[in-house]
Amino acid sequence: MALRRQGDYWYGETPTDVWEYFVWWTRNSCEPVKHWRQAVCECGSGVFELLMSAEEGFHERTCVECGAVHQMLREGARPRKSPEDAGPAVCICNHDEFEIVGVTAPFQGDLHSAKWFYLGLRCIHCGCLGCYDDWIPRYLDYKLYLAML
Ligand SMILES: [Zn+2]
Ligand SMILES: [Zn+2]
Repeated sequence: MALRRQGDYWYGETPTDVWEYFVWWTRNSCEPVKHWRQAVCECGSGVFELLMSAEEGFHERTCVECGAVHQMLREGARPRKSPEDAGPAVCICNHDEFEIVGVTAPFQGDLHSAKWFYLGLRCIHCGCLGCYDDWIPRYLDYKLYLAML
């Protein structure tokens, strides 16, 4: 496993390490994480800049390869105007290009559900990773939810 800790921060080499981080992080929880998926652009790239507002539940990724923009984890086809307090996700190393990993934890007794969602980002420059947002979607099917990543 390539996940490692340095001071207050965690580092990894691949999206799998982000998943491992959440497994570790929720290991003593009564609702541990069970499923995850990496965000991949239609062009095949997995590296994005992310504009987000945790307050407004707004998360818009832009592919650094082809420039495609996608508002994540949102039902409804129409793009939403970005909220005024939206800002770019920035790593402690000041870079802003990330791999994006969505992680869910189910309701107890219903393995296919997604009660919790965690937004994991891994900086492709220094490898620093962590949870940048979390919320409670209360979705019945984790696959459908993660498909919107
Ligand atoms: Zn792309
Ligand atoms: Zn970094």
